[in-house]
Amino acid sequence: MARLLLLPGDGIGPEVTAEARRVAERLDPDLVIETRPFGGSSYDELGTPLSDDTLELARTSQAVLMGAVGGPQWASAPRHLRPEAGLLGLRAGMGVFANLRPAICFRALADASTLKREVVEGLDLMIVRELTGGVYFGQPRGVETLPDGRRRGVDTQVYDTTEIERVARVAFTLAAGRRKKVTSCEKSNVMETGLLWRETVTALHAREFPEITLEHMLADNAAMQLVKAPRQFDVILTDNLFGDILSDEAAQLTGSLGMLPSAALGMAGSPGLYEPIHGSAPDIAGLGLANPLGAILSLGMAFRWSLERPDLALRVSRAVETALSRGDRTRDLGGGLGTQEMGEAVLAAL
Ligand code: NAD
Repeated sequence: MARLLLLPGDGIGPEVTAEARRVAERLDPDLVIETRPFGGSSYDELGTPLSDDTLELARTSQAVLMGAVGGPQWASAPRHLRPEAGLLGLRAGMGVFANLRPAICFRALADASTLKREVVEGLDLMIVRELTGGVYFGQPRGVETLPDGRRRGVDTQVYDTTEIERVARVAFTLAAGRRKKVTSCEKSNVMETGLLWRETVTALHAREFPEITLEHMLADNAAMQLVKAPRQFDVILTDNLFGDILSDEAAQLTGSLGMLPSAALGMAGSPGLYEPIHGSAPDIAGLGLANPLGAILSLGMAFRWSLERPDLALRVSRAVETALSRGDRTRDLGGGLGTQEMGEAVLAAL
C-alpha cells in the first residue's frame, strides 16, 4: 500500500497541510498517511529539527508532503539545530537533486498577477532547478582575512557531468509529457561551468532525447524573457543559483505565493519531497487565514510523480481551478475565506 509521510512543520505549515490531508483522504482512502514533527516543532519536542526516525520514514515512504519550517522563536538556536538545517538535512538524506517548480496561471487569477492579463493568461511552465550542487555547495568557500587586513569571501561554482546529466534527464522526461520543449539556461558566455552545462545538455539531448526541442538561453536573457513573453517556455532547465532566482521570478507571474507547489525528486523509484513554496508565514500563523492551495497542489504533484496516480493529480488541479472560478478565494487572493473554508471549497469541487 502507498505511504505518504506528512511533515506539517511550523507556523502555517500544520494549517495548510491539514487541508491537503483532507483532500488526500477523500481522493484515496487506501493511502497510508503518517505524521511526524519536523523543523522547529521537532526541535522543541525532540531536541532536533530532523530525527533519525523521521528521516528513515521519509526514505521508506513513497512520498513526503511538507508544510513549511522556521520562525523567529528558533532564530537563536545553534545553526545546526535550526529548522532550516532540518530541511537541508532532509533534502540531502533523501537525495533529491531536481527541484520542480511549476508556474501556472489559473484563468480566474490572471488579474492577480502584476503583469498584464494578455501576457500571463494560460501560462503553464515548469522550472527544473538543480538542487544539491553548484555554488551553494562548492568548495572552497568561506571568508578569510588577508595579511593586509582586507577580508575576502569565496564561493565556488562547480558541476560535473553526472550532476548535469541526471537533472537534465528529469527535464527532458518531463518535457516529453508536456509540449516537448526544453530551454536550458546558463552563462556559457562567461562561466566555465556554463560552457560544460551547455555541452553536456547538448550531448545528452542528441543521445537520448532527439524528439524534444532543445533551446539554449543565457540566464540573464531568460530573466528578461520571463517577464516579457513567459508563455514561450515549456520546461526551463537550470542550475542551483540561476534556478533559485528564475523560479522566484516565475512565481510572481502567477499572483500569490500561497498558490504555488513544488516537488524535489531524486533517482527514479526513490521518494519525492513535496512542499508549497511559501514559508511558515509567522505573521498569520494560527489565525486560520493561510491559503492552503499551494499545499493541496503539492499533494497533486505527489500523486503524479511519486504515487503513480496521475488521474488523481488531474482531479486535484481541476478542483482547484473550479473553486477559483466559482470565486472562492482566501485573503491573499482578495477573497474572504479562511484556510478550512478554502479546503472545503476544494472538497466541494471534487
Ligand atoms: P513566507 O513565505 O513565510 O511569507 C511571506 C509573506 O507571504 C507573508 O506576508 C505571509 O503572510 C505571506 N504568505 C506566505 N504563505 C502564505 C499563504 N499560504 N497564504 C497567505 N499568505 C501567505 O516568507 P518569510 O516571511 O520570508 O519567511 C517566514 C519563515 O519561513 C522564515 O523563518 C523562513 O526561513 C521560513 N521559510 C521556510 C521555507 C520552507 O519551509 N521551505 C521557505 C521560505 C521561508
